[in-house]
Amino acid sequence: MKRTVFLIFLIYWIAGSAFGQQQHSFNPKEYQYLWPTEASSFLSSTFGETRAGHFHAALDIKTWGRRGYKVFATRDGIVDRIAIGPRGYGKVIYLKHADGSYSVYAHLLAFNDRLQQLADSMRFSNDYAFEIDRKIDDRNIRVNQGEVIGFSGASGIGPPHLHFELRTPSEKPYNPLLTNLHVRDTIPPQIKGISVEPLSAASTIEGKNAIYTKRAWRKNDHYELGTVRASGKIGLGVNVFDQSNKVHNAYAVYELQLTIDGQDLFKSRIDSFSYDETHQMFIDRVYPILKNSKQGYQRLFIADGNSLPFYQRDGKDGKLNLATGTHQVRIRATDYFGNSTTTHLTLNITDPQITHTLPPESVDKENGERGNAEAPHWFHNWITFEDSQIKHITVATTDSTNFYKHKNGYALNLESSDNQYIKIPSTGPMQLHRIIPGNRGYLSSADGQGFAVFPEHTFYDTLSVGMSIQKSRNDSMRVHILPETFPINEQFSFYISRDSSLTDIQKLAWYKLDREDHEWELIPTNFTKEYLIGHPETLGTFSILRDTVAPELRRPRLRRRPDGQWLVMVDVKDNLSGLDYPRTKIWVNNKRGIAEFEPEDDRIVYYHPGFNPSSSSSLTVTVEAFDYMGNKKSRTFYLNLNKRNGTAKK
Ligand SMILES: [Zn+2]
Repeated sequence: MKRTVFLIFLIYWIAGSAFGQQQHSFNPKEYQYLWPTEASSFLSSTFGETRAGHFHAALDIKTWGRRGYKVFATRDGIVDRIAIGPRGYGKVIYLKHADGSYSVYAHLLAFNDRLQQLADSMRFSNDYAFEIDRKIDDRNIRVNQGEVIGFSGASGIGPPHLHFELRTPSEKPYNPLLTNLHVRDTIPPQIKGISVEPLSAASTIEGKNAIYTKRAWRKNDHYELGTVRASGKIGLGVNVFDQSNKVHNAYAVYELQLTIDGQDLFKSRIDSFSYDETHQMFIDRVYPILKNSKQGYQRLFIADGNSLPFYQRDGKDGKLNLATGTHQVRIRATDYFGNSTTTHLTLNITDPQITHTLPPESVDKENGERGNAEAPHWFHNWITFEDSQIKHITVATTDSTNFYKHKNGYALNLESSDNQYIKIPSTGPMQLHRIIPGNRGYLSSADGQGFAVFPEHTFYDTLSVGMSIQKSRNDSMRVHILPETFPINEQFSFYISRDSSLTDIQKLAWYKLDREDHEWELIPTNFTKEYLIGHPETLGTFSILRDTVAPELRRPRLRRRPDGQWLVMVDVKDNLSGLDYPRTKIWVNNKRGIAEFEPEDDRIVYYHPGFNPSSSSSLTVTVEAFDYMGNKKSRTFYLNLNKRNGTAKK
């Protein structure tokens, strides 16, 4: 019964697809798919999980931390495309099947001989290029179901595993479990906790206008969350994961349902999505929690700007504006095999307790202590300040209708007011502008020394954005474009006035400090006579820095891959702009090979299909590497194969 519903849904969705011009009707249930590897029949990830900036579009199949397992064609087909690169899918094969659909096999160690030879000849003839991405359907390379097309590996992102993806004829990924493929799963999802988000400046949860989280506990056959007190408009979220038999990986759940006082208010189910929408992962999840703690709380409401196809959209969006009194909340999570769990929550709703007021006088921020003024809670339509923060922050409003006093803190409502002025000690003064999706947005710094331009679809929803500049020298400055913890859709540009005394712009560029790994990330930069221009893909703080240090090369060593291929590896590290890996060249015993780059392991790998060191007692390894600012390093190493140790010679 349930399967029939899926099928009808799928057919309906394909028929209704905007790209539904395919000749063949596509119905994955009509075909027998073969499990694509001998490695295991266990999953490390399911379809629709949270990834750094998108949804996971496939099944990840466990390879037990090892590489070199056979990978099979899941159905008959032709090889549509092959690609090799340092990030993302790494070494990947795309097959196209008779019904126009695709299967994708990523993070491979190597392709089968025929495809590897083809890829290598393309690479050697393109000046020993490491990367390729070629559509080769015109070569008509046929593969049969069960044929070995490659070997599992760890190329691109992540530890060893096979990423197995299916796509419709219009190239939308769909859940491979919608086919005959299955795993053993009798374990219901587990609920870790909930989040409650304020959806207005006047809302409070447990007395605060801030995102609130609470852990669930197990009681008999379900989970309990106790009582949460709230007022005003709110939205719920749930931190839930699924497991299957015999493995410990945590998976995404398939279906979520929210019921309040017996009424269904929200339902989602993850069957498919399009690549155009995959970044909306950010607004399907509670983004500030995801960003700060890496935990994927799934929203039980449809945030503004969310067009994903997961939700039952019948006039309900899950945003709650409940009457005062108590309400019984039930959240149900179901995995693909119908195992389900529920959790219970009592919401105790009271009237908002706010008063309109003028902002309190701020103490001297320049000399005084800064408190926790770094991070007021920034929402689309308002900013909330804790009592300890507001002392150090200037809010220049003379109109108390937009400023509230809560029981625990203050809120500045931004919905109806453009050009709000605030001054946060760590970033300086800024004028906040409303940036509206669908319109090109423009923002200038309070000192008039810079501005930012936002393309039409930079933001998912209207947001107030502010900008300030801190200059210490003509070639050293920081630009803050806040709020930092908001996801954006699209690259934007900022323009900072160039000091006429700044003539040496060699090796200067904009960078953003990644707070997690404390590494500087290079931002696309260009300079004109008047401006220093950056083109970032996130909001935040940007610094201009000069990189004059070449990459470091060390520790050459000989290694053999599980498939027998010999390699030479050399560690590489670059301090600021990063390795310009397409420019890297490598020779072993004067024979040039392909310089593959493995960024997760910070190494360059010498690859030549004909390389066999067995007849040599030593190897001469020469590497030439550049960073993105053009700083060059060349080194020659002598590798004594009897001792298997490398020594470097200047
Ligand atoms: Zn994957």
